[in-house]
Amino acid sequence: MTGRRVSVAVVGGGVTGLVAAYRLRQQLGADAEITVVEAGSRLGGKLRTVPLADGPVDVGAEAFIARRPEVSELIAELGLEDQLVHPAGRRPLIWSEGALHPLPTRTLMGIPSDPQSVAGLVDSETLARIVAEPSTPFDWDPAADVDVASLVGSRFGEQVVRRSVDPLLGGVYSGLSDSIGVRAALPALAAALDGGATSLTAAVTAALPAPSPGPVFGTLRDGYGTLLDALRAAGRPHTILDAPAAGLRRDGAGWWLDPVGHVDGVVLALPAPDMVRLVAGAAPALADAARNIELASSAVVALALPTDAGVPENSGILVATGESLGAKAFTLSSRKWPHLAERTVTLVRASYGRFGDAAVVDRSDEQLIAMARADLETVTGVSTEPVDAVVARWHSGLPQLAPGHLDRVAAIASAVADVDGVEVAGAYLHGVGVPACVASATTAATRLAARVAG
Ligand SMILES: Cc1cc2nc3c(=O)[nH]c(=O)nc-3n(C[C@H](O)[C@H](O)[C@H](O)COP(=O)(O)OP(=O)(O)OC[C@H]3O[C@@H](n4cnc5c(N)ncnc54)[C@H](O)[C@@H]3O)c2cc1C
Repeated sequence: MTGRRVSVAVVGGGVTGLVAAYRLRQQLGADAEITVVEAGSRLGGKLRTVPLADGPVDVGAEAFIARRPEVSELIAELGLEDQLVHPAGRRPLIWSEGALHPLPTRTLMGIPSDPQSVAGLVDSETLARIVAEPSTPFDWDPAADVDVASLVGSRFGEQVVRRSVDPLLGGVYSGLSDSIGVRAALPALAAALDGGATSLTAAVTAALPAPSPGPVFGTLRDGYGTLLDALRAAGRPHTILDAPAAGLRRDGAGWWLDPVGHVDGVVLALPAPDMVRLVAGAAPALADAARNIELASSAVVALALPTDAGVPENSGILVATGESLGAKAFTLSSRKWPHLAERTVTLVRASYGRFGDAAVVDRSDEQLIAMARADLETVTGVSTEPVDAVVARWHSGLPQLAPGHLDRVAAIASAVADVDGVEVAGAYLHGVGVPACVASATTAATRLAARVAG
């Protein structure tokens, strides 16, 4: 490096942007000028912790997969170990055909490895079909990608798709299995199929993760806001809020970013459509590669109920497709998390909105709270009036990893490689979960730091 101060910008102040800023600080040192530009009036994007009744609740992402190392490691790195908590280990339920059922076990995102796991959830014809599946001729094209619904429906039938797979995939992507591709959402299954599995049953069995003693999920005791604050304190970026980045063009060896000015390099930590809009002029091939990534909108209603309301002793309730219920899932937060069970209220989160059905998200707070109460009463019989409630809307909240997504990601990577000093990161690349966002932010920041410091 010369004596000149390195100046970089991160566009987008969600968790991806804040991790990128923190990694850039680690790698470029105390003197680097690091600016985070955020369109909204707050940092955090889809991570948001708000007060409800007697304490904080997360109304965006509420947890992370703890079997991936990125978030637990980040929490430890930032000295937040005492914030790391895990679920109590209670099982979720599925609401299907107007009744509650145990969540099937030994499945890959709801795709059963044997008929017993979905017994009681699907009819006897479907069970017989699952039994016969291994001996039914199977045609898998290793060059192709298909949506999860087509694959599972063609082998196990529609009931497995709607009652077992959709509720699980819907929880992760706010989509249905029709809008999610096998290769991006279920890479281990795709690998088993490409490797010559002779049936879907055989492929699911091969792809099931080995039982692991550790907890599957984690979260932060006082909410994701704690992580956001710690990232900001450790990265010390200059932050500009209410400032949508509106223009990006080459400026000598670096870039001109409106509203920051000249920078040596940029990390674009944006949802795909926002990234596409920003780079359309300066990097058309990059914009083209990411143009067709669609997003699903959703709304979260968090309810604080009296502790004697009678909420079931389960971690949550997922809803099968086609039920006459607005909600797609409930997290029974005080049952799921031991640290929330200590509160003076019982916390429940109801989620609304699926890909292609965004209208519900724009109902008023009063309507959404009334829907959440009515839906909770339908599935649990709990009709107690909440002592507090809050609504969060997530327009274009979750990218849909549609069939062919891995090809799109490869095209994005190749287009970005041709744009010197620009890196991209975020949920539309290698997975929508917070751990995948942390990983993509770290990769992008490391590449940019090497470029601008080199
Ligand atoms: C309701 C919901 C529940 C979820 N639950 C979980 C969960 O439990 N576990 C899990 O792991 N994941 C969960 N996720 C997914 C996860 O939260 C997100 O994928 C992740 O937070 C995305 O982070 P990000 O920083 O990449 O994007 P975002 O959070 O979308 O941040 C991008 C930021 O860019 C800003 N921006 C947009 N355009 C511009 C512009 N032109 N200039 C400047 N800034 C701009 C936006 O305002 C936003 O703040 C959930 C998502 C939602 C919506």
